[in-house]
Amino acid sequence: MPHTDSILHGRYAVVSCHVERPLDDEVWRRFSALQERRPGRFAIAALMRPPAADENEERWLERAREAQERGPFGLHTHWTAPDHARPTGGDPAALVREQGRWLRSVGLDAGFFCGGGWYLDEAVAEAVAELGYTDCTATAFRPDYLEPDAAHVQLDEPAWLRLSSGSRLLELPTTHTVGMLARGLLGPFRRPVVHAYFHDTDLLDRRRSTALRFGLRFLGLKRTPLDLAELQRGLRPAKTMSFANSRA
Ligand SMILES: [Zn+2]
Repeated sequence: MPHTDSILHGRYAVVSCHVERPLDDEVWRRFSALQERRPGRFAIAALMRPPAADENEERWLERAREAQERGPFGLHTHWTAPDHARPTGGDPAALVREQGRWLRSVGLDAGFFCGGGWYLDEAVAEAVAELGYTDCTATAFRPDYLEPDAAHVQLDEPAWLRLSSGSRLLELPTTHTVGMLARGLLGPFRRPVVHAYFHDTDLLDRRRSTALRFGLRFLGLKRTPLDLAELQRGLRPAKTMSFANSRA
């Protein structure tokens, strides 16, 4: 593979949303309005949880297509249940493959993956690479609810993850929560890329949703706003690490 330099030189920010309850009309209304409005000039990526067996697939598809018109689009897998993100057994990679194939079969062009509850093991990473997605499951912060030995990747800057199969996966870690932005915790972060995230359900809470709008405007002033797809196309991380060594 020819060596390609990054075409991006500067300090950037991207924003993604874990869209967990797109079939809740109020959640969806608020998320759509925010994505439409582009606070801080951010085209917010919608990383959507696919519909469970008892959820309305047709309406989900309508909404996913709307989200895809407004910004980058990706898969957010909840393994156990709509309200229980991390896997509790079975074959986590198989579900990711199944959901990725399903998205393709219905004509949705997902480009990104984020594992629910920040779950990423190497088999899941292989499935994500096979689907041609860029991963956003690694985090620069340590989610406080994770057990010390929980499967999770901690990284504070974009990198290639080298997998056992020999393939490699572009990792654009999630670096900031909305709360961190709102508390002005951007300052110490010297890395070139800030990737902030929030949950669609945050928008139901007035305090969180105010913090989000404030945080995104602040971020848009401090960094050059990009979207995840622009970052995916333009960034060629210098760092490659083996998945086995990236586990935190
Ligand atoms: Zn989630």
